[in-house]
Amino acid sequence: MSNKASDAAIVANIDAPIFDPVAWRLTELESALAERARKLGIEKFAARAETWDREAIFPTENYQDMHEAGLLGICIPKEYGGEGGGLKGYCLAAAEIGRYCGATALTWNMHVCSTLWTGALADDLKMDDALRRQHEVSRARHYARIVKEGRIYSQPFSEGGAAAAGFKPFTTAARSVDSGYLVSGKKIFASLAGHADYYGVLCTHVKEGKKPSQRDTLYLAIPADTKGVKVVGDWDPLGMRGTVSRTLIFDDVFVDASEELMPQGVYFMAASNWPHMFLTLSPTYMGIAQAAYDFTVRYLRGEMPGTPPVKRRMYPTKQIAVAEMRVKLEAIKALWFQAITEACCRPSKDQILRAYATNHSVMETSNDICRLAIRTCGGQSMLKSLHLERLYRDSRCGALMLPWTAELCLDRIGREALYEHGESDD
Ligand SMILES: Cc1cc2nc3c(=O)[nH]c(=O)nc-3n(C[C@H](O)[C@H](O)[C@H](O)COP(=O)(O)OP(=O)(O)OC[C@H]3O[C@@H](n4cnc5c(N)ncnc54)[C@H](O)[C@@H]3O)c2cc1C
Repeated sequence: MSNKASDAAIVANIDAPIFDPVAWRLTELESALAERARKLGIEKFAARAETWDREAIFPTENYQDMHEAGLLGICIPKEYGGEGGGLKGYCLAAAEIGRYCGATALTWNMHVCSTLWTGALADDLKMDDALRRQHEVSRARHYARIVKEGRIYSQPFSEGGAAAAGFKPFTTAARSVDSGYLVSGKKIFASLAGHADYYGVLCTHVKEGKKPSQRDTLYLAIPADTKGVKVVGDWDPLGMRGTVSRTLIFDDVFVDASEELMPQGVYFMAASNWPHMFLTLSPTYMGIAQAAYDFTVRYLRGEMPGTPPVKRRMYPTKQIAVAEMRVKLEAIKALWFQAITEACCRPSKDQILRAYATNHSVMETSNDICRLAIRTCGGQSMLKSLHLERLYRDSRCGALMLPWTAELCLDRIGREALYEHGESDD
């Protein structure tokens, strides 16, 4: 066979799993979940992603598909009808979704956190029997809605102040009233606003004569159609346009006590003992990094659908650029895989510093790989007819996600590396 003929027959295996199950020693469950997500991404989400992005609309159809595929319950324990995925299983699947539709992966993260935090993470926390029973009754209610009815939960905690960064109590306040709470406040960048069935709101339980404290954080599921809940403002951002992260207003909203996602005090315990819970925003951007690399290989080989079959791979500068991208991609894959594998309750200081380093690296490198991809592929690659320019815009958002923004990860690493707990120079 001539080189030409063999070239025509060979197409790069661009859509192979990001983490090959054998090479990365995935469990059967991890491998199956990632595969289910990858299949949906390739067959359904990739083609729809342009519409959500261009029109800044929520990917409702994708959520219907994820419900049918059991993925809305990926982190719901098996005894409650879910998939029992755990943090690592979820992260591997979410990276595959992020590869094909960033907005779907990022909003799915908000939904999944309401089940992961109340599921595997809460199981690791110390609760007495009464508290544990209370938690099990309440999570069973939320899980049944998700598994049986396909209900979607979101996770608005940002307020524009220091609370979402983890430095102050939330200003959104819940006051005790008969059989529940009255909630008032505002949440900004509330992904899924107007589309989630329940808003998983973090707020402070305000008590008469007591200073607001992070220990009194409540995690409440507020039904979207409750009186006093409003979605305001527009949503016309640079990237992640399909997340529809508008502003939510809660104006004396009555929330039944049975809508607690975690009993009082348990969210604070989770955030203090299970810090990797904030790493779950990173899979989306791991997927985007892989997608930008895949795009570049396909494009330089002249195999990008919708473009003329012009090869550019023979130029040494292109080869070096792809090599540089591959080095960056392998580095974040290895670091990220280690961090999601070792994530646990009460991690060591070393593990926590690595988690910050991982989040920082994935968020920044994802954008860097997209930047290199556009520079390497050239002018045609930034046209809106191709998806690389969307990857580039979406990737820019990763470093902005609180509480572990790229800046705050550096801030925490520097401080915690140089000071032991309780140390100061005063
Ligand atoms: C696409 C997208 C989707 C989002 N979805 C959600 C969502 O579903 N739910 C949700 O709750 N939030 C969501 N967010 C919000 C996100 O987590 C941040 O809250 C938001 O980007 C903060 O914007 P800001 O300019 O108000 O930040 P600011 O609070 O003004 O902070 C700006 C930067 O300053 C730094 N900073 C902040 N506080 C401190 C501090 N105390 N010390 C030192 N540095 C600090 C951080 O690096 C931060 O990035 C989303 C954001 C984006 C971009």
